[in-house]
Amino acid sequence: MRYLKPTSIHEAADALESSRGTILAGGTDLCVYMAEGVCQPETLIDISGIDSMRGIETIQSGREEATVRIGAGTTVAEVAASEALPDCLRQGAQAVGSPQIRNLGTIGGNVCNASPCGDTLTPLLALDARFVLRSTAGTRTVESEEFFTGPKQTVLDPHEILEFIELPSASCARASAFRMIGNRKGQAISQVNAAVSVAIVDGVMSDVRVAVGSVAPVPLRLAGLEELLSGKTVEDLHPANLRDAVLEGVRPIDDVRSTATYRQEVTVALVFDALAACGGQRSGQDEGAGAW
Ligand SMILES: Cc1cc2nc3c(=O)[nH]c(=O)nc-3n(C[C@H](O)[C@H](O)[C@H](O)COP(=O)(O)OP(=O)(O)OC[C@H]3O[C@@H](n4cnc5c(N)ncnc54)[C@H](O)[C@@H]3O)c2cc1C
Repeated sequence: MRYLKPTSIHEAADALESSRGTILAGGTDLCVYMAEGVCQPETLIDISGIDSMRGIETIQSGREEATVRIGAGTTVAEVAASEALPDCLRQGAQAVGSPQIRNLGTIGGNVCNASPCGDTLTPLLALDARFVLRSTAGTRTVESEEFFTGPKQTVLDPHEILEFIELPSASCARASAFRMIGNRKGQAISQVNAAVSVAIVDGVMSDVRVAVGSVAPVPLRLAGLEELLSGKTVEDLHPANLRDAVLEGVRPIDDVRSTATYRQEVTVALVFDALAACGGQRSGQDEGAGAW
């Protein structure tokens, strides 16, 4: 196997184009697949030495709305600790694996791995994130909602690298929360997760974004629920009011981690709890799904 370690994004794009290799970031997913024989890359392109792909900064260009830009090579631990990022994204990152996994794994790797239960994916959807993809031809930007096409599948071409994740600053100003449920504390992968981002003025909700994971082949926005909640007050929030709109949007399956029926019930609970946290009625993961 060939191993390349470019130090710039252009060098990485050239290497990917010429070798048709496989991108290695933290390796916390890829090395597992290699060990299991699921994939056997001929060339590994290690992007961990590209400094420009790490870090979080606010970009203001001309009169355009400011953007919070996260390098795809930023570790999950760095995302989890960043005060510059909205609560739901930090909480999603905090839910990933163990400290060792968060220190090695990157947010770009979590996105490109495209697991339906990836814990940063629903926050990114709820925040209207955009993904900047780099190839030798230049860059193109894809909305997060259009990026995921199936379990472990995305619109990323084989010669493209996820370079940055961008969050519109308006989405960062909204209240937000992430909730997940797993089999146990510690390294449990989400059986269901949910992220909510909402503007609340005088108790009235607008710009509502609700995203759920592990309840369909891709992480999903719940458009019907978002419409239902828009213009309502946080006092109107009750699980019974959300239930039909949540269940209309999800398509869970039975698998080794839980049944479809369980996932449906838990999704309603997690979405309600995240919305309630945004409304200031509750806070803290421990008060989660079983609280009502
Ligand atoms: C024990 C354990 C527990 C875990 N727990 C969780 C959990 O609780 N929640 C969760 O969401 N995940 C979990 N994971 C999965 C994993 O840690 C995350 O998905 C992590 O963020 C992957 O990042 P990485 O940098 O290690 O990606 P890598 O393994 O390096 O790459 C993953 C995939 O993405 C591609 N890729 C990576 N970066 C780019 C890029 N910039 N551009 C294009 N392609 C790219 C790679 O080619 C590969 O196909 C766990 C993994 C392990 C081993």
